[in-house]
Amino acid sequence: MNLPFVINLPTCLLNSVKMKILKFGGTSVGSAERMKNLVGLIAGDAPRIVVLSAMSGTTNNLLEIANALYQKDNDKASSLIGALEKKYNTVLTELYSTAASLEKGKELVKNHFEFLRSFTLDMFTANEEKAILAQGELLSTAMVHFYLEEINIDSVFLPALNFMRIDENEEPDMVFIEENLKAELKNYPGKKLFITQGYICRNAFGEIDNLKRGGSDYTATLIGAALSCEEIQIWTDIDGMHNNDPRIVDKTFPVTEMSFDEAAELAYFGAKILHPTCVLPAQKRKVPVRLLNTMQPLAKGTVITDKAPTDRITAVAAKDDIIAINIKSGRMLLAYGFLRSVFEVFERYKTPIDMITTSEVAVSLTIDNAKNLDAIVKELQEFCTVSAEKDKSIICIVGSFTAEKQGYAFRIFDALKNIPIKMISYGGSEHNVSVLVDTKDKKAALMSLNKGLFNL
Ligand code: ASP
Ligand code: MG
Repeated sequence: MNLPFVINLPTCLLNSVKMKILKFGGTSVGSAERMKNLVGLIAGDAPRIVVLSAMSGTTNNLLEIANALYQKDNDKASSLIGALEKKYNTVLTELYSTAASLEKGKELVKNHFEFLRSFTLDMFTANEEKAILAQGELLSTAMVHFYLEEINIDSVFLPALNFMRIDENEEPDMVFIEENLKAELKNYPGKKLFITQGYICRNAFGEIDNLKRGGSDYTATLIGAALSCEEIQIWTDIDGMHNNDPRIVDKTFPVTEMSFDEAAELAYFGAKILHPTCVLPAQKRKVPVRLLNTMQPLAKGTVITDKAPTDRITAVAAKDDIIAINIKSGRMLLAYGFLRSVFEVFERYKTPIDMITTSEVAVSLTIDNAKNLDAIVKELQEFCTVSAEKDKSIICIVGSFTAEKQGYAFRIFDALKNIPIKMISYGGSEHNVSVLVDTKDKKAALMSLNKGLFNL
């Protein structure tokens, strides 16, 4: 047997066979008790990388601190920093039972908060803000790491800032991530449990940056894709992706299997459980994503793969705060290039369009970012008649509708027959039918769909 060869194999190659990624969000590390609970969930034989968010509320608190610093309100910043530090010190006393661990924890918290305080003296820009926002994940991961150490569970603290990176377009730099993550893991042959930070990364200039709010899911799928892992687990407080919004309708059920395409549509159009951008890396490398519940670890949850059932309606979701823009122009009649001039206005204001429908002389579309609405309407008015309506919701019906299968549209619109519909978009993808309604009709629409499509 050629043993030396086997031993010389990079650990990452060995790991890539069976490695799992487990991501826990803010509430799963939201208290000392929840941190202790993690131990039962991260145990296992296969090598695993655990990705953690900041304790729930911390990123918002850090944002408030940054805002105070922007406004040069040092007193407010100092008192916010003080209050947060107090909270962390309390968690430490609940988390650790040995004096040695507590001491280590206190040193950690002291260092991070000294770092936060250093900004009250200095110039403050977007770069400093990003450094501040990174502290939450750095704290939570180190605290959990020390706890594991205290109870004699061997784990490696893996600094995400050494391998997570975005490029000049703020897109993940997959080549860099893969190369550097594998190099990092290679330093720990034989180790099985790694703890790393979600959300934080470096940018193309090497400065501290982040993957935008809720970005820890993205970290997990980027790592999972980079290592072509066996599975990416996203642990939250709900037992998977449901067929309808459980906050709005009474009876819903978790969908046990769904495709990457379906999950991406649902994540984007309202299901809060998963960050919309995070599906793509897993889909590209065909790594299954499993959504699990920390409160019910044995529940099946939802598994997202490329082998999910087809020919079915899978789930519905709703997205609020949508603005409908109706554009009319005689010039559209038999003309070409009209849509381009409309789209160019949205492009100039970096405002994505969600839904769109056209007739011969009019086009209606929706946006969810009102920041530049007035400017957009003004520019459009230079060449067409424009009206904008707020307080709309997109109801999105997701499934796998193959063209040969008939009757999906009938079932959907039959279910919605008593709901006033403002716009319909069908056929853009095989996975999504979207309708626009007034937000006041959203609840009734979701309830009617629950009855008409799922018999609930
Ligand atoms: N802590 C970050 C946030 O609150 C990232 C995350 O939790 O996913 O947005
Ligand atoms: Mg989240």
